[in-house]
Amino acid sequence: MLTAITGINWGDEGKGRMVDLLSEDYDVVVRYQGGNNAGHTVINEKGKFVLNLLPSGILREDVVNVMGNGVVIDLKHLHGEMGRLREAGIKITPENLKISDRAIICTPYHVQQDCLEEERLKDAKYGSTRRGIAPVYGDKYMKKGIRMGDLLDSEESLKSKIEGIVNWKNLFIEKGYGAEKLDAEEIFAWIKEYGYELKDYICDTGLFINEAAEKGKNVMFEAQLGALRDIDFGIYPFTSSSSTIASYAPIGAGVPNRKLDLTVGIMKAYSTCVGEGPFTAELFGDDAEHLRKAGNEYGAATGRPRRVGGFDVLASKYGVRMQGADEIALTKLDVLSYMDKIPVCTGYTVDGKELDVFPIGEKLDNAKPVYEYVEGWHEDISGCRKLEELPKAAIEYVKYIEKAVGCKIKYVSVGAEREEYIVIPD
Ligand code: GDP
Ligand code: MG
Repeated sequence: MLTAITGINWGDEGKGRMVDLLSEDYDVVVRYQGGNNAGHTVINEKGKFVLNLLPSGILREDVVNVMGNGVVIDLKHLHGEMGRLREAGIKITPENLKISDRAIICTPYHVQQDCLEEERLKDAKYGSTRRGIAPVYGDKYMKKGIRMGDLLDSEESLKSKIEGIVNWKNLFIEKGYGAEKLDAEEIFAWIKEYGYELKDYICDTGLFINEAAEKGKNVMFEAQLGALRDIDFGIYPFTSSSSTIASYAPIGAGVPNRKLDLTVGIMKAYSTCVGEGPFTAELFGDDAEHLRKAGNEYGAATGRPRRVGGFDVLASKYGVRMQGADEIALTKLDVLSYMDKIPVCTGYTVDGKELDVFPIGEKLDNAKPVYEYVEGWHEDISGCRKLEELPKAAIEYVKYIEKAVGCKIKYVSVGAEREEYIVIPD
């Protein structure tokens, strides 16, 4: 069984939480794209963890975790993340963590370039997490990346690769941005310091996953961010720099020969968006502040306050289609419990005309939300474990959303902890 867990919205839907829950029946959990700009929060009996690079399956002892070729890896960050988890008693060895030899290394000059570019853009900035993600993916496609597998080659070979890339990079850093020239020796030393300790973890992870699938093992692919941040289909250029889409999972994991059996779309009961870019359903003022507080909507990776809005039907329908979701996990329903009336963005208008599909470009920039209000329930639902236990208005809300996006809601999450969820039988 090959399953993708992906985001339907702008990210932070609770993917980490759902991977932690659903991975019980899985043998392998794979991150297939993105880097340490991810922030997946998991709360279970072992404690509270924020995972940036490591797959959320790392918290389960019998799961083998894979960082696929589609991921970009900041070695120092990974060193710190592994250290923090080990301090919390989590075992991490080459047995339960495998890193693709084809994954690209994110270095300090990528972070520097990210910051230089955001500063150059001033008010037109992207709202980057400044973790070097766009520059490192840019380099990957310019074929100027250093790969994890390069750490297994001779020092001479790695050094000369770094030198060649640094000479090229200095055209931008030194001559373009006017910053201090990069030093190849320093970069080599950084890579050696944080990379060589990972040598035993690096392998052909595609081969590993393929063999596992052949043996009938269950493999889960964990996405970072959501459909609306996908490099091709998201709110470009306010997207991430990789493909967050389920169809990309077999590629980013190194098994393009395999097809997914199931795609679970993680969809939030309301909308949130970190950083810049069009966000049509956005709420402002007290309504926004209240929802942000109720949902504790502050970025897990960056601490930034998230922009918030009502559930966005048009964007979520688009997300469901782009992810090819077979079923939905609706998360954070409990957060809405304080509302008398729940705002739902049922569509967008441009120049007074209602749109049928999620737009791009100026249409998206100028889109106005159409808001409707549905009945709230005003009681604590975090203890509910069956659909029937939810207040009538909450059941109505789930059904309303299910119908609006046209995809079965299989799970409803009513709290951040592992057991706080409802399964809706077929
Ligand atoms: P991810 O990036 O998709 O993994 O999501 P994040 O971890 O960035 O954001 C989701 C946040 O909501 C985390 O702080 C979770 O602990 C929390 N969370 C997840 N599901 C629920 C839920 O059903 N209810 C509540 N109240 N919090 C939740
Ligand atoms: Mg997150």
